[in-house]
Amino acid sequence: MRYMELKPRPCIGSGYCCKQSLCMLGVEAHGSIPGPCPSLEFDDDRHWCGIVRKADSEKQKWLKNNLHIGEGCCSSLNSDRRGMLVKLRLSESNSSSPS
Ligand code: SF4
Ligand code: SF4
Repeated sequence: MRYMELKPRPCIGSGYCCKQSLCMLGVEAHGSIPGPCPSLEFDDDRHWCGIVRKADSEKQKWLKNNLHIGEGCCSSLNSDRRGMLVKLRLSESNSSSPS
């Protein structure tokens, strides 16, 4: 049997994954509830984990390592990420056009 190998794409903070379900950290903070995670924050045109943002730098390092934050997106075809990519490309093309 053949398997398709999906390479992680860059995370652009669409928030899709944390809207679908809570990670271990989210369950620890909020209990076993359905998504979206109450700790999900939107700021500066992208989503962030509020728990990671509020942690001190040592704890942030530990959390990022254990939650694989910044290591890429395994759900790169989700609609939120695709929509964000379209917006990013539009704003890039607008800012690079002569005015
Ligand atoms: S780009 Fe992928 S990993 Fe990043 S927040 Fe969206 S779904 Fe999650
Ligand atoms: S917002 Fe943070 S705690 Fe909540 S699911 Fe996402 S990474 Fe986990």
